[in-house]
Amino acid sequence: MDFDTRLADAWVRAIAAAVEKEEARLTELDSAIGDGDHGSNLRRGFSAAVTALEGLRPDGPGAVLTRTGTTLISKVGGASGPLYGKAFRAIGAALPGPADPAALAEALAAGLDAVRALGKAEPGDKTIVDAWTPAVSAFRTAAASGASLPQAATAAAEAAELGAHDTIPLRARKGRASYLGERSTGHQDPGATSTALLFRTLAAVTTA
Ligand code: ADP
Ligand code: MG
Repeated sequence: MDFDTRLADAWVRAIAAAVEKEEARLTELDSAIGDGDHGSNLRRGFSAAVTALEGLRPDGPGAVLTRTGTTLISKVGGASGPLYGKAFRAIGAALPGPADPAALAEALAAGLDAVRALGKAEPGDKTIVDAWTPAVSAFRTAAASGASLPQAATAAAEAAELGAHDTIPLRARKGRASYLGERSTGHQDPGATSTALLFRTLAAVTTA
């Protein structure tokens, strides 16, 4: 199975449903070390992204994800809007046509590069990067050993969830949470948590 236009479309819709379902949890996490808007930012952004797919005649999976990225940039004011927006635009640019697991791994790596280019976060800074980095590694490793799309995506989701969990003891060095200094420790990072949700959703739509 390749990652095609239908799966790209299903992924964006499933993310919109997942962030709506998890809005309260994301908001609670962001209330502890930020300003409590991460859940509503993502709900608003992905709901707009679904609306923006109406009437789009995508010529490949990339067109769906590029449009999604553009929508996130224009609709989400917080730090996460431009970061996820650039990420989806980069993933889209890397997927002109249907992608096998290895090609999707590289597209997801391009998404991570975009997050890092914009946000300048290193692994360990308690950000999106802490979930996305292990997810890309796991996806690549699985794809290189011949895993199917659902298998690779599931490995990536598990790695992202571990990465998000492992942000709990970290001290934030980027974004709003960094203003708290030492007080940012002991809480799971909201952005790493939503990144884990993105990868879990990818696993779910490729498995369905
Ligand atoms: P804001 O911080 O503007 O309120 P959100 O609440 O939507 O935006 O997003 C907060 C999340 O954004 C953080 O939990 C963190 O994971 C992520 N983040 C913030 N700054 C950066 C950065 N420079 N690089 C990567 N991720 C970042
Ligand atoms: Mg916030």
